[in-house]
Amino acid sequence: MRISAIHEVSRISSRVAQLMPRCSNSDCKKNTFHIAAWRQRGFDVAGQWFCGPECFELGAKECITALLTSRGKNDSARAPRMPLALLLFSREILSADQLKQVLTEQRETGENVGNIVQCLGFATEEQVTSALAAQWGCPTFNVEVPKLPADIQMPRRLMESYRALPLHCVERERKLLLGFVDAVHHQLLYTIESVTSFSVSACFIKATAFENALRVTTRTFRQNEVLFDRKNSIAEMATISRNYLLQCGATGARFGICQDYMWARITGAKQNLDILFRLPDHY
Ligand SMILES: [Zn+2]
Repeated sequence: MRISAIHEVSRISSRVAQLMPRCSNSDCKKNTFHIAAWRQRGFDVAGQWFCGPECFELGAKECITALLTSRGKNDSARAPRMPLALLLFSREILSADQLKQVLTEQRETGENVGNIVQCLGFATEEQVTSALAAQWGCPTFNVEVPKLPADIQMPRRLMESYRALPLHCVERERKLLLGFVDAVHHQLLYTIESVTSFSVSACFIKATAFENALRVTTRTFRQNEVLFDRKNSIAEMATISRNYLLQCGATGARFGICQDYMWARITGAKQNLDILFRLPDHY
């Protein structure tokens, strides 16, 4: 009888332990006393639960370190593509003579082919965008002034440096369409997916449509973006994220990496805050 009671107590206590979240910091002392950790509100870092600000900072540091290790990896996978000038020639937009002239000019000036053919009057902007889309196996999105969807956020600095715009989003299915002007940046697609948890598809938009959209949105641009343009250490990025987390009364953070920036999204019940940290060339 006594033994079965002990069994019962240990069964219940292990069930309680299962139901109560454990801090993802494996060295956290509160994990020894489940209830102490559980009673704290805690914070989430990319899907992992941390019991308090100190453990959050540690989790953020680990997450940032892992992202820096993977830096550049998602940008290297590229399928071989037909050069744009040849593609325009194959579509009979460029004649053989024009093709020769374009290639010579590109060699001498280093300018991109899309700009050269438009400057010389050999192709229209629509023809260039459609050829670029074909080159990358993506559709085109044809509007003169795209309206940015209100329910998706992307830091303006990233739109400008990648020449990319969020165009359409389906909140219910968590799907986002992202328009590029010059090339598809896979690392950006991957980063947006990990920060927003939307699945992202790429398409192409005209350069003028991109510029129009950015001009129109200048005045109404979101205020909840912070940019750290000086180069920060990993520890500094984690501490700054923790400070903003506490200041905003937020519930967690997600991180993503781009060419030059670490993107931290501090997630709250009402609003999100985006922090961009400029990255040094090497750590
Ligand atoms: Zn903890």
